[in-house]
Amino acid sequence: MGYKLPGTPLKRAEFEKAFKVEDKPEAKYAWAAGQALSRFLEELKNGRIVGRRCRNCGKILIPPRMYCEHCFRPTGEWVYVRPVGRIVTAVVSYIAATRERLEKPEVIGIVEFEDAPGSGIFHRLNIDPELVISRKAFGMRVKAVWKPPKEREGSINDILYFEPVGEGEG
Ligand SMILES: [Zn+2]
Repeated sequence: MGYKLPGTPLKRAEFEKAFKVEDKPEAKYAWAAGQALSRFLEELKNGRIVGRRCRNCGKILIPPRMYCEHCFRPTGEWVYVRPVGRIVTAVVSYIAATRERLEKPEVIGIVEFEDAPGSGIFHRLNIDPELVISRKAFGMRVKAVWKPPKEREGSINDILYFEPVGEGEG
């Protein structure tokens, strides 16, 4: 370009010598989910959903937190909840997490647990996308479908998806 800057241009190698810092991160943990989330993930391996109940307001927080964000106090105890809830909201996704277009669209949404009003998790829903489009999915009762015990690894994906369940079942 017809543009001349003062100074001496640097070659790439010279530039890197001056500005590049070689360092090895000394991470002691592959991941640190924290006390509450670690237990939550560990319990998923056993096919159980665990939350923390706040002694002050009585709310059960899922995923569990050691501190209640409603009262700003430490939560008091661990409680198991049934893996049953209702669809609060859902969307139909035509794109995979890996960004390819999906042949068969996936439904994902938030399930609020029956035993823990106000607490829910985001997950896949094994329902007809038409139910989302027609809004019939909202409020639908669903239960978790788990991977076989041997395939579980302490991840939210130990739950394959949530599927519809009748009233009073699950
Ligand atoms: Zn509270």
